[in-house]
Amino acid sequence: MTRNEIIELVEATFPNYAIKTVSKTDVGKSAYVPNMQQKEIFNFFEINPLDRRQDIQIKELFSNRVLTISYYASQREGANRPIEPRMGLTDLISYISIGDEILFTHDQQNIFIYNLSRSTDDEIEEKIYSQIDINLLKTKANNINPHPNQVVQTITTYPRNNTLKNYVKQRSNYLCEMPNCNYRSFSKKNGELYIEIHHVIPLSEGGEDSISNTVALCPNCHRALHYANNREELRQRLLDYLRDL
Ligand SMILES: [Zn+2]
Ligand SMILES: [Zn+2]
Repeated sequence: MTRNEIIELVEATFPNYAIKTVSKTDVGKSAYVPNMQQKEIFNFFEINPLDRRQDIQIKELFSNRVLTISYYASQREGANRPIEPRMGLTDLISYISIGDEILFTHDQQNIFIYNLSRSTDDEIEEKIYSQIDINLLKTKANNINPHPNQVVQTITTYPRNNTLKNYVKQRSNYLCEMPNCNYRSFSKKNGELYIEIHHVIPLSEGGEDSISNTVALCPNCHRALHYANNREELRQRLLDYLRDL
């Protein structure tokens, strides 16, 4: 999910928002200095650090993780420097680094923070979209270009050994090797049952392209091995299976 897609969704969902890039001074002084627009969001909630130091609970947008921020007034060194509000980094320190774009927004009840520079993987993206109003999503989905341009991408792949692949298929009798899986696949044109080949320890993690690291899996178990919540446990089950072969 791109930065602009997130901003677009925030724009369509919340009354206003404000972004500031984390400066060297913010990190050096262990305190984030909000910009004018960000201060206005806190003013809306009548949180004024010039009155007194306050611990404020804000939520991370989309995740609802709660961060406690210490909001206080600070007199900077040097003559005639104005008093400025700062945010203690107790909970922020692991959240921000120099150059990150920090977005603040609110829904009239809660103040939200979001680090726009954090990368979003597929699972976070799904989580974000699941919290967007479905009618808004429908409107946006209806407005996309139905004829996207072709993009050529470079991907890194490992060539597979066909002998190994076909041996494992025959070893499995074209049935899923995940213990206790009873899925019976569909037949292909050539009469064989459809089955997929999976490396239990991925080659990218140093696994071998060998009999003792390769299994035949049904499409459902295969996807589960890559994406399920309990994928580590599933992987262990296959390792046990291979060890006992
Ligand atoms: Zn796989
Ligand atoms: Zn299976």
